[in-house]
Amino acid sequence: MVQMLTGHGCFGHYLHHTARREPTPQCHHCADEDDTAEHTLVACPAWVAQRAQLCDIIGPDLTLPVIIRSLARSREAWQAVSTFCESIMTQKEAAERNREADEAADPIRASTPAIIGLGRRTGESVAYPTSPSGRRASDASDRSPGESGRS
Ligand SMILES: [Zn+2]
Repeated sequence: MVQMLTGHGCFGHYLHHTARREPTPQCHHCADEDDTAEHTLVACPAWVAQRAQLCDIIGPDLTLPVIIRSLARSREAWQAVSTFCESIMTQKEAAERNREADEAADPIRASTPAIIGLGRRTGESVAYPTSPSGRRASDASDRSPGESGRS
């Protein structure tokens, strides 16, 4: 919830201008060019369902002062705001992790056989079970060449 109320968190605007982890401040959940906390809160079409649920509890005005006032007003409103923020931030953080994973999955790293030999502590040198292309050399020779003798 703090991320949503301060704008310091998983927002394109923050990631670009402050954390400098993203090339642009754009929203990754719609076409908006500037993903601020306010955009996420009141404008982004990706969160219509969550926003409708929140409006049911605290009313249609989702500007920050109104939300903060409603937090103090009732336990129910606090819970609604908290659920709203967590639901959205969880998804925004998951989307950010996916973007980072995509960047990390460059061809060099992807082909590193880091898993092979893991847990086998025999002291022997680790042998590749297959050739790097993933094809067993024996595949082609399994088929008997003598089929033509039937005619
Ligand atoms: Zn958006």
